[in-house]
Amino acid sequence: MIRTRFAPSPTGFLHIGGARTALFCWAFARHYGGKFILRIEDTDVARSTPEAVQGIIDGMKWLGLTPDEGPFYQMQRMERYKEVIRQMLAAGTAYYCYTTPEELEGMREEQRSRGLKPRYDGAWRPEPGKALPTPPAGVQPVVRFRNPTAGVVVWDDLVKGRIEIANAELDDLVIARADFTPTYNFCVVVDDWEMGITHVIRGDDHVNNTPRQINILQALGAQVPLYAHLSMILGDDGQKLSKRHGAVSVMQYDDEGYLPEAVLNYLARLGWSHGDDEVFSMAQFCAWFDLDHITPSAAQFNTEKLNWLNAYYIKQADNARLVALVQPRLAARGVTITATPSLEAIISLYKERVSKLNELADAAEVFYIDLRPNPEVLAQHLMPEALPALADFIAGVKDVAWEAPAISALIKACIGKHGLKMPKLAMPLRVLLTGQAQTPSVDALIALFPRDLVLKRLAAGQVS
Ligand code: GLU
Repeated sequence: MIRTRFAPSPTGFLHIGGARTALFCWAFARHYGGKFILRIEDTDVARSTPEAVQGIIDGMKWLGLTPDEGPFYQMQRMERYKEVIRQMLAAGTAYYCYTTPEELEGMREEQRSRGLKPRYDGAWRPEPGKALPTPPAGVQPVVRFRNPTAGVVVWDDLVKGRIEIANAELDDLVIARADFTPTYNFCVVVDDWEMGITHVIRGDDHVNNTPRQINILQALGAQVPLYAHLSMILGDDGQKLSKRHGAVSVMQYDDEGYLPEAVLNYLARLGWSHGDDEVFSMAQFCAWFDLDHITPSAAQFNTEKLNWLNAYYIKQADNARLVALVQPRLAARGVTITATPSLEAIISLYKERVSKLNELADAAEVFYIDLRPNPEVLAQHLMPEALPALADFIAGVKDVAWEAPAISALIKACIGKHGLKMPKLAMPLRVLLTGQAQTPSVDALIALFPRDLVLKRLAAGQVS
């Protein structure tokens, strides 16, 4: 049974990198009919916040990455970690170390001055036949893991290939602080072990932790999971993805008008591929997903491609769903939606041309507000020679059949009569009705409005 976990630290938002890790863990479990576990690594009490926990849960819910087990909170498992540390102390795989932070600093200074790599000198490490110093009074010891000194730690990383680290490179890691609280790497180990994790899929910023974690797992007699370290995501500019690149949180993509299926589809292709396939459902992705087709090189974020996918999914989306998504956006702008023109009809006409939900809201908003087109924009498009055609059109609007083909025939008759080209009349109509020169086909646009609103808005063109 495959078991994966997503183990975010709730110290900030669920960002794009975290969401991709969660997606890959989830899809891998889905592919093999396994379990996907959510574990909140909240032991850094100074930096963890309940808002960040909520942000992670909201973000995963929005994306539809539902855990099969959890969320488990590490803070609720403290007693268990301490129990394992006590067992390790009893078994001799961990030991008390009374070296004070000041002594450690002095040791490091001295090593650095001799050009050596700073490390703990092993003074309190028990060795066969070695007499340990007497514990000094008044010093609360930390607990260190008794790391093997010889040999190498090896794992076949499922993304990066074989990785070998000499044990001589690894210090005896502190696993409990002087107040006996367990440290980060130790909690991860106990959890991966007890949660029966078979595949640790995580960002490659954790590669350095892996040899330490493997050694502790082995000391515990635990089965060592397989590891897959995902390369980082670079921004559009090739720099490490960061707040500078705009969207810091997955929920910001929601705010900006992306659909979750577009974000998921986009994330799936960030470092993984299935031939040239670009557009696919999550069901398809889960059926395809494996770790063999993850690239070990960094993936580069491409906002244009994300927008293209979002445009695609907006076109595919049900009108009723889009209405439900656009309504709150209009409400947030203080726009009151009236029955006519119908929001659904507006969306149906505009959904082919937008790449974000907010653009649908922008388009719909002008139908419902007291619109005053910018006089300069109007002057650019309404030429004096078009005024008689506009007047004829307004006269015709009063009794033309209220549907696009009849309106189109009326426009053609008006330009024909005055010997004008289509844009001479169509452009000012667009600007007068929507404030914008870019709209869908003008006859279909006009048919969306109630007749009296068209008359009211076009009247503004006659006096200008
Ligand atoms: N809590 C770690 C983080 O948020 C992840 C730990 C892991 O996946 O092993 O970066």
